[in-house]
Amino acid sequence: MTTQPGQPALRLLSLGAGVQSTTLLLLAAEGRLPGLDGAIFADTGWEPAAVYEHLDRIDREIAQPAGIPIYRVSAGNIRRDALDPAHRFASMPLFIKNPDGGDGMTRRQCTAEYKLKPIKAQVRQLLGCPHPKPIPRGTFAEQWIGISRDEFGRAKDSGIGYLKSWHPLLYLEGAADGREGWTREDCLRYLRSRGWASTPKSACIGCPFHGNRQWRELRDNHPDEWADAVDFDHSIRSGNARGNANGKPLLGEAYLHRSRLPLDQAPIDRVTAHEWASKQTDVFGQIADVELEQGDPDGCSPWACRSGQPVDNDQAA
Ligand code: SF4
Repeated sequence: MTTQPGQPALRLLSLGAGVQSTTLLLLAAEGRLPGLDGAIFADTGWEPAAVYEHLDRIDREIAQPAGIPIYRVSAGNIRRDALDPAHRFASMPLFIKNPDGGDGMTRRQCTAEYKLKPIKAQVRQLLGCPHPKPIPRGTFAEQWIGISRDEFGRAKDSGIGYLKSWHPLLYLEGAADGREGWTREDCLRYLRSRGWASTPKSACIGCPFHGNRQWRELRDNHPDEWADAVDFDHSIRSGNARGNANGKPLLGEAYLHRSRLPLDQAPIDRVTAHEWASKQTDVFGQIADVELEQGDPDGCSPWACRSGQPVDNDQAA
């Protein structure tokens, strides 16, 4: 693949299928952000049905008509792998109750394993340099990441030479307050105006980073997915299956909820200070109905997780 010096060989969207990345896809399809060559969705195999339905719909109604291919990539099924004694488990950030009664947390390796790794492999493939073929010096893909102005502190480079991050929302005009860059609320307004008010949050069904609002949403509106998460929570109490099979059981107990109680007994009806803040905002009509319905906006972003940097155990890619 040959390119002009300093120019990206490809422009690719990191598609989480949440509010911000759906906005970028729609802007590209409308020609307001030109030059997008494709979008990559990393599938952990354990997303809510609403995310897969949304992904199918944006593929059918936005990407395909605009000639933008969506690449769905996967490194396996995170739920199945956690419970498979024969499978190496890239740990989820589980809440641990230590034998001495203290609190702990397992390292988050899942984002690196199930999202970053397959994304990087796909980018190399598209650049014509699958691992271990070397990538020519100066060849790179520009990766669009959906970071809105209200969370600009999360905008970071990937740190990978062949994959340079770009955050288009931070430079757009037309924000409601007249400033440079779109906020999440600007994205929601834009999506609503195009018939995409129901954009869901993208994250694993049993992600320990869910706030109480997400857990309630699951319990009250998606009983099958709630039952699935409760069952998984019960199954990981002694840690992952591989560790137990190898004679390295977890010292302590693992939980999905931060209270370190079984999920179906956890105090998820308690409204957190963050939620109260959102409700206060709502009184003045400044927060979107969509957001209130969906819970906290934090989905799992491969490159800009709100919960800290992932542990990148993918040395090869
Ligand atoms: S959603 Fe949660 S469990 Fe799933 S990959 Fe992201 S951090 Fe890990």
